[in-house]
Amino acid sequence: MSSKKFETIAIRTQVAQSPQKEHAVPLYLTSSFTFDSAEEAAQLFQGQVEGNIYSRFSNPNTDEFIEKLKLLEHGEAGVATASGMAAVYTAIITHLQQGDHVIAANEIFGNSRYIITQLLPKMGVTYDFVPLEDHLAWEAAVQKNTKLIFLETPSNPTLKTADLRFLGKLCQANDLIYIVDNCFATPYLQTPASFQADLVLHSATKYIDGQGRVLGGAIVGKEKFVTPCYDFIRRTGASLSPFNAWILSKSLETLAVRMDRHCSNALQLAQFLATHPAIKHVSYPHLASYPQLDLAKAQMKQGGGLVGCEINGGLAAGAQFLNKLKLHSLTANLGDTRSIATHPASTTHSKLSQEEQLIVDITPGFIRFSVGLEHIDDIIQDVDQALSQK
Ligand SMILES: *Cc1c(COP(=O)(O)O)cnc(C)c1O
Repeated sequence: MSSKKFETIAIRTQVAQSPQKEHAVPLYLTSSFTFDSAEEAAQLFQGQVEGNIYSRFSNPNTDEFIEKLKLLEHGEAGVATASGMAAVYTAIITHLQQGDHVIAANEIFGNSRYIITQLLPKMGVTYDFVPLEDHLAWEAAVQKNTKLIFLETPSNPTLKTADLRFLGKLCQANDLIYIVDNCFATPYLQTPASFQADLVLHSATKYIDGQGRVLGGAIVGKEKFVTPCYDFIRRTGASLSPFNAWILSKSLETLAVRMDRHCSNALQLAQFLATHPAIKHVSYPHLASYPQLDLAKAQMKQGGGLVGCEINGGLAAGAQFLNKLKLHSLTANLGDTRSIATHPASTTHSKLSQEEQLIVDITPGFIRFSVGLEHIDDIIQDVDQALSQK
């Protein structure tokens, strides 16, 4: 199956048909599975035979979802999780012990930052943050006790690009576990495992669902690092529900066509913003003015569905712009069919001090667009009218 192309894997990886010979995969809403005999039960529990026992451990729908995602990400193994944060927490915590050190990029999702700064110290784990694109800073941060590195690329919300190949070499040379949150790019645009990443994480809530319906997450990658994550999830309970897995597996079938449109709409919006007098600066990984254009082009098939820009006039102008939008939704999600605008300085990143916001380049007038699948003319028209002085 894995020799097939992306779209075919996403559509044709499927649990075995039931005796009903259904075409679409049914939803297996069952908390447990039965055993034919006491002997079979014993063998299942001892891991001597494969099979379902209990839906916290495995379920046909979660198995199908994770099997697809594993193949799409070029991973050896995978485990589905109840949310993206369950994936981040599990991937980080499972491999650490007291005395270890972690290096993470400055620009990461707010709750991932919370795990590192608030939870790891309770376990006696220390950390350093480094600018995502600064190779010397990554190298300088490596200590004898450094165990893992954690990053997102493109980063949230300013859309900087990490050099995945450089970081892969750094991790190989220093025996570090290499963890990449691939939520923004999706495996359609970028596969960190191709650059030696050990674990690739997803908030499936975003582009993988793509329609703003369910929470979900995943960890895929090298078997020796995924297996302890699976054991942790199975015992601590952040397993993905069969219903959400069923939705997410169906959603993967359309990921490629959706991402193509998200990317072409986003590029057109970025190009529009780049010429607008009310905009100081635009960040989009495949825009001609993007500072890391060559790297982004080498690493990502297209630029993704998110666009960042800075509006002249700071915090007040940013808030006023959001209030004038008519088509765009004001909501905390991203990766939806519906276009969304957020103002990180007053919402998602408002817990950071002003200095911390500036360290990660979130200026007061910074707006992040999650460009949806509406017609691009309507998306641009809405942004244009909200930027006008009238
Ligand atoms: C949303 C998000 C998460 C968290 O995912 P949930 O499904 O909301 O728990 C993690 N990383 C990134 C980059 C995200 O955008």
